[in-house]
Amino acid sequence: MAATAIDRLATVQSDIRAAEAEHNRSAGSVTLVAVSKTFEAEEIRPVLEAGQRVFGENRVQEAMGKWPQLRTEFSDIQLHLIGPLQSNKAKEAVATFDVIHTIDREKIARALKAEMLAQGRDLPCFIQVNTGEEPQKAGIAPKEADAFIRLCREDIGLNVIGLMCIPPVEEAPGPHFALLEKIAARNGLTQLSMGMSSDYETAVSFGATHVRVGSAIFGGRG
Ligand SMILES: *Cc1c(COP(=O)(O)O)cnc(C)c1O
Repeated sequence: MAATAIDRLATVQSDIRAAEAEHNRSAGSVTLVAVSKTFEAEEIRPVLEAGQRVFGENRVQEAMGKWPQLRTEFSDIQLHLIGPLQSNKAKEAVATFDVIHTIDREKIARALKAEMLAQGRDLPCFIQVNTGEEPQKAGIAPKEADAFIRLCREDIGLNVIGLMCIPPVEEAPGPHFALLEKIAARNGLTQLSMGMSSDYETAVSFGATHVRVGSAIFGGRG
């Protein structure tokens, strides 16, 4: 019989627990963010029924279309925005999500803070770092990260809890994970959002606290 999303979820969870043990991380110190982008509510529901509560989506509009209903059916859902954000979507993003992983410029940081104040919601945030310095990719450049983290925390007053990265696809991810960890450590940040379907165990070995896993749970996105 073909593996289902529930089978694959169980495999990913046990891989994470094994990687925690292997790298002297305490059990449960890594949060699995199940990335449900492109999948319909009917495909997400079994994963919720299996107990998974933390999900990632990369588009505000898409998340608004399926999560309000799922939130009425299941309690304690935590929805993470892991995709790029435009400031004209800040209002919807703050209303729809519980955690933001992709803050990478002042304009979006200020727009989110204004909306959080307006809506009385103080969302934990990650700052995205473009560790590979890829011109087409979102994220603050590594050499600008310290100043940007300070700006977000001290001037803008965001609740910055950690850093996020997406390593270049054609490179070994380890050095990128190590760089992210180094920038976080020197800024006193403890949370690291890194690792996807192909490299989440490696990410755990480099200190990931949040792995964002999509296709290894839900299957290919076609
Ligand atoms: C789609 C996506 C993921 C999940 O990717 P998989 O390879 O399917 O696990 C993780 N992070 C971000 C930012 C994504 O856009």
